[in-house]
Amino acid sequence: MRHDARLEDLGHGIYAYLQPDGSWGLSNAGLVSDGGDSLLVDTLYDLPLTQRMLDAMRDATPAARQIDTVVNTHANGDHCFGNQLVSDARIIASTATAEEWDEVPPTVMAAMLAGADQMGAAGEFLKRAFGDYQFEGLAPTPPSETFDGRLDLRIGDLAVELIEVGPAHTRGDVIIHVPETRTIFTGDILFIDGTPIMWEGPVANWIDACERIVALDPEVVVPGHGPLTDTRGALAVRDYLIYVRDEARKRFDAGLSAREAALDIRLGDYSAWLDSERIAVNVVTLYREFGDTQAPPGPMETFELMAELSRQG
Ligand SMILES: [Zn+2]
Repeated sequence: MRHDARLEDLGHGIYAYLQPDGSWGLSNAGLVSDGGDSLLVDTLYDLPLTQRMLDAMRDATPAARQIDTVVNTHANGDHCFGNQLVSDARIIASTATAEEWDEVPPTVMAAMLAGADQMGAAGEFLKRAFGDYQFEGLAPTPPSETFDGRLDLRIGDLAVELIEVGPAHTRGDVIIHVPETRTIFTGDILFIDGTPIMWEGPVANWIDACERIVALDPEVVVPGHGPLTDTRGALAVRDYLIYVRDEARKRFDAGLSAREAALDIRLGDYSAWLDSERIAVNVVTLYREFGDTQAPPGPMETFELMAELSRQG
């Protein structure tokens, strides 16, 4: 397990918790505090990681001793499996995220890893991506409160806007905007120096979400994975999505299968981003959106394809 995670003080009671290098499961989180009130943006993939983060926050500010409010940006486990450590807080997510909550619970991750040795290349890939996390014995802790579209909160004197921008990365993605400090926590709408993975789409919504982040004119942007950024990070993700959408579309129109398209697309400079094999998931999701009539590859086939792509480097 990596130990280079750190809490960054962004000033005005706002903190980002960053887990380099941002690869599979190494998500970022954050804290907004004012006047003794606190809002935690996301928990982490397992309890030891989440506990270490909460300890760092409590060392940094008394407001974090009692977390009042948690916002889960979406339902992927690396942003919510640690919720049981803050289960007495008000836990907020979009309705769509709450509905997606139980689809890949910790028990499924634990079972998948337990069976990984029998799964060949896909199993090797799963172990490399997820084998360091502790998925056993996690108590499901879903949101206690949901909203649609937008929810305005007050943390001390700070206005905090929860803005639903999904479906995009997942079905219910939410970004958190603190206008007074020009800070945005984007959840997995932004991956920086790493490859975005589109589980849900439609891609147009995700492109719009990037442009919405730019339009809010933030000074500091905390991505779901990777280092702190600003509007340039949002534009880079937007441009990746446009490129991959267009390249996938050409191959769809030419009659290539999703698998063939994923193997054929040249990523150019984007191949330097971590986990570039996620092109496989992105193409499968885009093909579904294009109305592909062939049966889509199942999850195991998709992981096999990612294993194959990651071997190609
Ligand atoms: Zn994530």
